[in-house]
Parts: sequence; C-alpha cells; structure tokens
Amino acid sequence: MGKKQAEIILKILEENGYEAYFVGGCVRDWLLNRPVHDIDICTNAHPGDVMRLFPDHVPTGLKHGTVSVKLDGSLYEVTTYRTEGRYEDFRRPSEVSFVSELRIDLERRDFTMNAIAMDRNGCLKDPLQGKADLENGLIRAVGIPVQRFREDALRILRAVRFAAQLHFQIEPATLAAMSETSFLLSHIAMERVRDELHKIMDSPAPEVGARLLAETAALHTSPLLQRLFSVRQEYVSRLPFLANLPQKWALLMYAAGLDPDQARGVCHELKLSKRETEAVCSFVQHITQLKPKWDEPTVIDWRPLLLQTGLPFCLELSNLLEAVWKNMPALDLKKSLEDTYEKMPVKSVQELALNGKQLYTLLDKKPGQWVQHMLQHLWEQTAFYGLANTPEALLEEAKKEVARHEY
Ligand code: ATP
Ligand code: MG
Repeated sequence: MGKKQAEIILKILEENGYEAYFVGGCVRDWLLNRPVHDIDICTNAHPGDVMRLFPDHVPTGLKHGTVSVKLDGSLYEVTTYRTEGRYEDFRRPSEVSFVSELRIDLERRDFTMNAIAMDRNGCLKDPLQGKADLENGLIRAVGIPVQRFREDALRILRAVRFAAQLHFQIEPATLAAMSETSFLLSHIAMERVRDELHKIMDSPAPEVGARLLAETAALHTSPLLQRLFSVRQEYVSRLPFLANLPQKWALLMYAAGLDPDQARGVCHELKLSKRETEAVCSFVQHITQLKPKWDEPTVIDWRPLLLQTGLPFCLELSNLLEAVWKNMPALDLKKSLEDTYEKMPVKSVQELALNGKQLYTLLDKKPGQWVQHMLQHLWEQTAFYGLANTPEALLEEAKKEVARHEY
C-alpha cells in the first residue's frame, strides 16, 4: 500500500483517456500528515473499463461502481464518479447512478474534508473548500446538513468519530443538524453503529466523542449504551491507556455500574463476537469482585486469579485495573503479578509430573470431570503450597483429596 504505487493506477487510467484522482480519507490524511490505511481512487471510467485495464482486480462493489485493483499485493479501491439514488429508510441508497463530472461525485460525500480530490502530481480539486476547513479543524457537512443526515444517519456518528480522531470542531450548523436528526439513528444497523463507537473508543480523544454523543443524543435509542458514554469524563479519558476494545468496554461498564448480566446484555446488543463478549464479561466480573479491596491495593492476591485465568488474562486485568483505579496509585500491579508468577514453581497444569490419564489410571478410577478439578487442585498445591512436583507426591496428595471429598 503506497502512494507511489497508486499513482501508477492513476497514470494508466489517464493514458487511456480517463480522469482519475485520489479522493476521500487518504487525501484528508495526507494533508494532515497522518498515516493512511486505505487509498481510494475516483474516475470517470466505468467499472467495465477499469476491469479491462486492470486484469488483476477484485469486483468488490460493482453495484456501487467499485473495483478493487490489485498491485504488488495491495488493493486500491477504484470507484466510478457517481451520485446516490433514492435513499430508503435513512440508510445508504439501494441504487447509484454514474456521472461524468468529478464535482458531482464530491458533492455526494459526507464532509468537506472528505471531498477533496488530488491528482497524481499532488494538485487539488477542491470545489467545496475542504482544505480551508481542514486547516481550521472544522467538520462541515457537504450541502444542506439536515438533508445529508436524513439521507444517511450514520454520518452523525462519522462526524463524532472524526471529531474524536482529529480533535476537530463540528461547524455549528452541522452540529445543530446532527442533534435534529439523531433520532434517525434507530434505522441504522447496530454493526455500523458499533464500528463507529469502536473508532471513537480507539481515538486519542474519546472524551470529545462522548461529549458529542451526549450533546446530540445520538445513543438515545439504547439507554445502556447512552449510560456507558455518559460516565465521568475522567474514566473516558483513560480509554487510550487500554490495550484493546474488550478492556475499553469493561472500563465503561464498570464506571457506569453495570452488573455482569447487564454487561452481557450490552455485548449482545453490540453484536460483539463470542470471544470479545467473554473477555468483556470476565473483565467486568473480576474488576467488580476486586472492588472492595481497592482502598488497600497491597491486598490484591493474584494467586487465585492466576490459577483460574492464567497469566495473559491477569496481565490484561492488571492493565485494566491501573486505568480504572481512581488515584492512579504508583503501586505497580503488573510487577506484583509478575513477581507472584515468577515465584510459582509450577506454572501450569501441563507442567505437573502426572497428567490426567496417569492420574485416573493410578487411582484406578473412571475418567470424568473430576480429573480436571484434581489437576487444578494439584497445580495449586505445587504452585503455592510447597507440594513437590513428583509423581509420588502428587499421587499421595490426590489420594488424600479423594478421601477428603466424594470424587
Ligand atoms: P477512514 O478510512 O479513516 O475511516 P474515510 O473518510 O476514508 O475514513 P471511508 O469509510 O473509508 O472513510 O470512506 C471513504 C470516503 O467515502 C470518505 O472519505 C467519504 O468521502 C466517503 N464516504 C464514506 N462514508 C460515507 C457516507 N456515509 N456518506 C457520504 N460519504 C461517505
Ligand atoms: Mg478510508
């Protein structure tokens, strides 16, 4: 993925008599000196022409005029100048029509800063004065703001997201239109809403996003989500210190006082993956459980947690706890965790001198659920209570454990 590479695509299109420009997020980010993660190209060539000129392509969005051209292993989206047809249900249009003028293509775009075209020599086509807005740090809707948000209400969240990512202001008329139309967000698929929320949470200024979400009532259809983004700003401002989205959701859920059931409910509402949901729920459960001890940080005993959840989870949890902790104590939770782990002579069930099969054979018992419990018990004893990790010592302890409980 590179500008130099993509210039070749523009050149080939031009040499064949077409117009072609860089457009959208890549131009915006080049002008802002920010890293660019996808390069979009617009052209008056029709998708059929693009596919003919670039045999190595993927027809990613023919219906919308988009062909992804492959060059040196990277994909570049080449989209025919288009205008958007009728909008149904305040979502993206079901049909588009191709047009021959760049300006019309730029006018269908959401914000002026996203509607700047650049040719391969770096010259701008900027009929909507996007560059001036960029320089002033302003997010301004293209055209009549209310109309544009009515066409596609996701643009409201895109504006909030760009404000958080770029630390930009929203131009007053645009902001007023966002509040006026935010009730239409109920028509937008949760996956699209969630993806924008994730970008806000991953941005360097999530508190800017949270303030705008509240100000425009963008999350009014979901009381729980609304509650999450209304938590005290000091919590939202800590999101950038967290390593991943499950940790970030857990921080907001903790700050909003959600119980584990409500946490699970929000994960379902957001349509998070099963893995993400489990991670969020475990984080919420553990930070809630550890809460009473927070006044005395030194009493965090990592041992049961290490046994129950393993080192990688505990490391994430310590990271999360340090962000959640109100006074940001100098106390290094991670170090206390690592010290505890370091001192464990046996670091996992797999390191035990007896495995499950040997265990039930030697005890002359049928395999079953109990084997796992027993291994866990033996691990605990060897890790923290001085039991020797030898087959003999383990077998002896296992026999005692069998006698102690009904196995
Ligand atoms: P990023 O890729 O950093 O998330 P982007 O602005 O490139 O931001 P994309 O979703 O990649 O966002 O879209 C590329 C371009 O397509 C945008 O810059 C904008 O011009 C246009 N665009 C995207 N979504 C919309 C929309 N909902 N309404 C109008 N134009 C849009
Ligand atoms: Mg983009």
